[in-house]
Amino acid sequence: MSKASPLLALEDVHTFYGRVHALKGISLTIAKGEIVALIGANGAGKSTALMTICGRPNSGSGRILFRGEEINSLDTDRIVRLGISLVPEGRHIFPRMTVRENLDLGTYLRSDHIEIARDLDQVFDLFPLLKERTKQLAGTLSGGEQQMLAIARALMSRPRLLLLDEPSMGLAPLLVKQIFSIIAEINRSGTTILLVEQNAFMALKIAARAYVMATGLITHSGSSSQILLDDTIRAAYLGG
Ligand code: ATP
Repeated sequence: MSKASPLLALEDVHTFYGRVHALKGISLTIAKGEIVALIGANGAGKSTALMTICGRPNSGSGRILFRGEEINSLDTDRIVRLGISLVPEGRHIFPRMTVRENLDLGTYLRSDHIEIARDLDQVFDLFPLLKERTKQLAGTLSGGEQQMLAIARALMSRPRLLLLDEPSMGLAPLLVKQIFSIIAEINRSGTTILLVEQNAFMALKIAARAYVMATGLITHSGSSSQILLDDTIRAAYLGG
């Protein structure tokens, strides 16, 4: 990791849903330009970590720093404006709106129309399939196409940091490969990525570093190659 101050840092972050203590003091860093994976069992708190970074729910305590600025108490719109965008688990595209209308929603905080048009061209370069389907209702797309639309919509806010929650969920193996190669390409063109995945093996292949979560805590961290070699992690998350 670079010695410069990280793009994102979580310091002892706790998050609660009422009485449920979902994050029990997690700390992590992501340097500009990295892909970092966050893996762990169901219910470990991975989605909560991503949502807490976006201010929904707010962390109960601890600090979240983005480009050195404390963002814990900011509302989600402000966090998006600063350059963080989340592709939530389950995609949450708007099925009765067209592909183009869904993409336009990604720009709702922007007014730089020339730049928006440029970003749309770039998104269509990355996802040519969406370009062919701009007028199609999003609900009629396949699962893989909807995942692409959800990622494309997030890119339309021009994030510095893209948070991806289970992008491979429910997709056939060929599509999983395609989605992962698109994620790598997004990263190569300059976007830093925090990737939550059940498909730990694929996530560790694409990410240089990873954090492992269990029951609201980070239990391991290190380079992906170290984590891939760790017997306890292999047994728990990588099928032995
Ligand atoms: P999964 O892969 O199943 O989504 P996860 O690692 O992303 O798991 P979270 O969804 O962040 O885990 O859940 C962490 C804990 O918080 C779990 O115990 C879960 O039951 C609880 N939890 C999540 N959302 C809520 C909520 N809205 N209200 C109450 N508890 C919640």
